[in-house]
Amino acid sequence: MTHIAVLGSTNMDLVAYVEKAPQRGETVTGREFRTIPGGKGANQAIAAARAGATVSLIGAVGNDSFGARLRSTLEHSGVTTDHLRTTEGPSGTAHIVVDDEGGNAIVVIPGANGTVDHLVPGDEGLIASADALLLQLEIPLAAVLAGARTARGHGVRTVLTPAPAQPLPPELLTTVDLLVPNEHEAAALTGLTDPHSAATALLEQVPEVVVTLGAAGSLHAARGTEPFTVPAPRVTAVDSTGAGDTFVGTLAVALGEGRPMREALQWAATAAALSVQRPGASASMPYRSEIEARFT
Ligand code: ATP
Repeated sequence: MTHIAVLGSTNMDLVAYVEKAPQRGETVTGREFRTIPGGKGANQAIAAARAGATVSLIGAVGNDSFGARLRSTLEHSGVTTDHLRTTEGPSGTAHIVVDDEGGNAIVVIPGANGTVDHLVPGDEGLIASADALLLQLEIPLAAVLAGARTARGHGVRTVLTPAPAQPLPPELLTTVDLLVPNEHEAAALTGLTDPHSAATALLEQVPEVVVTLGAAGSLHAARGTEPFTVPAPRVTAVDSTGAGDTFVGTLAVALGEGRPMREALQWAATAAALSVQRPGASASMPYRSEIEARFT
């Protein structure tokens, strides 16, 4: 069985649904409130576990009620939480206002995620035993870099999702094996809005890049090969939240199983297309049997 390690965030998303978002100084009455477990690390871990891998998440939750719920959600999804610390203080939260036009405004408070700024004893052994390490940028960069260095030292494939977009130390990019930005993140990293140009520019630092293009699929570029695109299945999307995390989590599983890159990208696109047809982030992620049933 493929073993995936994820080093990243867990958040409780606190979502208020309103007709129109309040302006400064204004109070509005909303329609509905939901608490939804999220965080890019947790989401990628759940996507990979549902796709059939053994998955361990390295990170932290707070010692509040959100922390307990985040941990149990992960465990119910089949993610091993032995390396998920519980720290003093609050869990990470994302405060989200969604208006009737589908627009949103978000405040993220890192909480426990902010304490994940280094690896602790045991983390290295876990990373060394994995087929791949998945990284994102919702925990301090120092830990992301430490994880990438550790994986590199043990010959473990490192996959970085550079979200949320931010300037990155050059050493991080040169230490990862596969970078998976969406179009906006690729543009933010390079200053180039054309995904082909951005992917080509990124190859100066990273050996392999996949730019996700929403409904248009994904673009693969690697040093010494011709870039190619893989289309996304045509579906009616109802909620694309978590599509990127589904894509990366399932791509890592497919690669860990030894599938060639083009086939792995098609498999990930099949999984992500299933997820956008259902509401929610982790709740919408497909199980392996569903991906296999749709994969042609
Ligand atoms: P999000 O932030 O919504 O999780 P993202 O911006 O990180 O997503 P996208 O490029 O929008 O990433 O989507 C990731 C992948 O999900 C795409 O490469 C594609 O395979 C799939 N996908 C996204 N939207 C659609 C869609 N409307 N129809 C089919 N597949 C989709």
